[in-house]
Amino acid sequence: SRREGFSTVPNVKWEDVGGLDFLRQEFERDILRPIKFPEDYAEFGVDMETGFLLYGPPGCGKTLIAKAVANEAGANFIHIKGPELLNKYVGESELAVRTLFTRARTCSPCILFFDEVDALTTKRGKEGGWVVERLLNQLLIELDGAGQRSGVFVIGATNRPEVMDPALLRPGRFGKLLYVPLPSSEERGLILKALGRKKPIDASVDLSAIGQMQSCENLSGADLAALMNEAAKAALEEKLISKGSKTDDTPWTIKTIHFERALTKIS
Ligand code: ATP
Repeated sequence: SRREGFSTVPNVKWEDVGGLDFLRQEFERDILRPIKFPEDYAEFGVDMETGFLLYGPPGCGKTLIAKAVANEAGANFIHIKGPELLNKYVGESELAVRTLFTRARTCSPCILFFDEVDALTTKRGKEGGWVVERLLNQLLIELDGAGQRSGVFVIGATNRPEVMDPALLRPGRFGKLLYVPLPSSEERGLILKALGRKKPIDASVDLSAIGQMQSCENLSGADLAALMNEAAKAALEEKLISKGSKTDDTPWTIKTIHFERALTKIS
């Protein structure tokens, strides 16, 4: 859904995320528990980090896991794209930032997700100039006012953490840096399984083995999603063109041959 800046509880579950177990544990401890047991945290006077920065190569599940966190926490999710916030009229970006945080507080518990957050936060004095500077200052003010007690958690995502203004990476802001790597060969199999969860994949298909194939090396989660889609497309085409001519009643499924064909197409 492209309802920019509006809140919904996303429909992504942990099962839709392949691999990334480390991140899942991190967010269970840092976001899910504080949302579930606020009185216990208050009783023991424990403050948890409420700002996170997911960084790493594109298409490896940063957006996906942020949505899964919101879903599993039963929290609202507000998706903001950094560049879109910046492309407002002078003065309006700051108002937009303020409005976003107000909205997040009124629908707490809430996850505010800043995609391409580096666009907002390029080191001061470099590209962008004073518009970025004012926007950044507003963002810092709002981040310092968010937090556990207001039920607002902030997750940023970037492919370029090195260009981020260091002021943003302090505790209480995007204070916890979490790397989201390209999947390993084993994780590629797990991602394919997550992606195929609701598809008619033939029982003979070994998704772990496909994930370990040479031709899958260096594929991201997004590449694997494209692969899965191509394989499904090939199988569907076969079904549609030979509908009626099949004599047995075995169901149409996605087979290894479809994945092989899809792989040649992807690479
Ligand atoms: P970008 O930096 O380009 O915004 P991203 O890291 O946020 O990328 P996502 O948008 O989460 O990447 O991933 C894009 C798509 O790729 C997802 O919608 C999903 O279909 C697939 N995908 C990526 N990573 C995974 C994963 N770990 N498990 C399952 N699917 C994945």
